Amino acid sequence: MIRPAELIQRKRDGGDLANGEIRDLILGFARGEVPDYQLAAFCMAVYFRGLSSAETHALTDAMIASGESIDLHGALGRKVVDKHSTGGVGDKTSIAVAPIVAACGVPFGKMSGRGLGHTGGTLDKLESIPGFRVELTTEEFVAQVRDVGLAIVGQTAQLVPADKRLYALRDVTATVDNVSLIAASIMSKKIAAGADAIVLDVKVGDGAFMKSLEDAQILADAMLELGRRARREVVCLLTDMDQPLGRAVGNSLEVREALDTLGGAGPPDFTELVLDTATRLLTLSDLGVDATEGRRRVEGVIGDGSAAAAYDRWIRAQGGDPHPDALPTAPVVLPVEAPHAGHVARLGAIPIASAALHLGAGRRTKDDPIDHAVGVACTAKRGDWVGAGDVLAEVHARDQATAREAAGIVLRAYDLTDESPAPRALLLDVVS
Ligand code: URA
Repeated sequence: MIRPAELIQRKRDGGDLANGEIRDLILGFARGEVPDYQLAAFCMAVYFRGLSSAETHALTDAMIASGESIDLHGALGRKVVDKHSTGGVGDKTSIAVAPIVAACGVPFGKMSGRGLGHTGGTLDKLESIPGFRVELTTEEFVAQVRDVGLAIVGQTAQLVPADKRLYALRDVTATVDNVSLIAASIMSKKIAAGADAIVLDVKVGDGAFMKSLEDAQILADAMLELGRRARREVVCLLTDMDQPLGRAVGNSLEVREALDTLGGAGPPDFTELVLDTATRLLTLSDLGVDATEGRRRVEGVIGDGSAAAAYDRWIRAQGGDPHPDALPTAPVVLPVEAPHAGHVARLGAIPIASAALHLGAGRRTKDDPIDHAVGVACTAKRGDWVGAGDVLAEVHARDQATAREAAGIVLRAYDLTDESPAPRALLLDVVS
């Protein structure tokens, strides 16, 4: 029988843990036998001391072993693809990519997470759709990928329950941004959910957990290694997260933007990432297409409406109402105006995320409810020129007072200068 306090102490003091010790700790936690406070202390020790590569493998294996593993390939007799982001601000990419890929005839099966730290979570965004169910049984998940072509689910008591609990705990104990904890959390979900080929979007910059390209490369390498061990094909895209992705930040606002993008009317940066990610998934799939043909098909299903139709089928299959008018809207919409003319030299992702949190779009403690209707729409992005009084952003709020407070935070996220800023690429590197 392990003594959690001893393991916490050893890690705190810089020692190594054996595979079996990590496994017992994580399985005990998943069963509710090891309390939250001990796992929170363990995560903090890991945050400061790190995990070796062997310990990271053991943590990933233990998280997978806390629930079932799905053999999607065996069940469908097809290669199934998946994508995951390490977390950003305004990152609603999966909600647009999944139906595009499915409309191209490639099965897509994904396990997502909720908001983490300052970042939003796909499950919270999807739950802004009235009726949408994120908790499917394993049987329902497999049947939906087979029959509808796509499914996005959350961790459950059956599927990586250890990540479900650990994720919520890390979110509120400042223990998110550690390479091993992120790699194990993401790869346990990817491996247990059963996709054969995975595109990982590793966010880099102010609004990401990895602030520098070097740190993002270390995280990408850790996840590639975990993928290789589990015989999955993994490609990592390292992408810019210095400013929010697209314009919308906040749950239902982001779903609406993903829908606009499926209709060919999304913001340019977000659209480019969606098209690129979907194209790469097609080239990894069993369609046997190269990037040029993949891109042609991706643009084709947006152009002829079949990506939007796939979105409709998917949302209905998980109990939701796919109509954009069904999404909740905030009663107060307050424009934030430019105090003077200039180029947007900086649009800080973290202050925009803080404004969204202040409005109620995220959690401060693990049981906090989320207001799905509120958020920020960033009309002006880095490099745009604005005149004095032009709208920089819109704050969507529950009441006037909160809207005004959030507007102050949003205004401080913008730097307006005479000089236009140097362009910064969205795609910074590809590692596979
Ligand atoms: N996404 C996850 O699923 N887990 C993390 O730890 C970070 C991002």
